[in-house]
Amino acid sequence: MSEVIGALLEDGVEEVLGRGGREGVGSSELVEEGEVECRRCDSRARGRFWRKGHRPRTLGTPRGEVRVAVPTLECCCCAEAGR
Ligand SMILES: [Zn+2]
Repeated sequence: MSEVIGALLEDGVEEVLGRGGREGVGSSELVEEGEVECRRCDSRARGRFWRKGHRPRTLGTPRGEVRVAVPTLECCCCAEAGR
């Protein structure tokens, strides 16, 4: 369990620090995979969401709370946070 979460955290760090580092919010990329839904305009189409960094999130597990980095997505058409 902890190994899986550790891998997730490493992925998050790699994504933030890699790919040219932080060149501002404009360097986001289109999301081509996965199920995402905009809560404002109801868009579910692939390729209509941008990655926008990560946000910390606390998960409750039977062994206590664990902090993980969750990728943040933003809708292209109305800038509403997705997922
Ligand atoms: Zn939208």
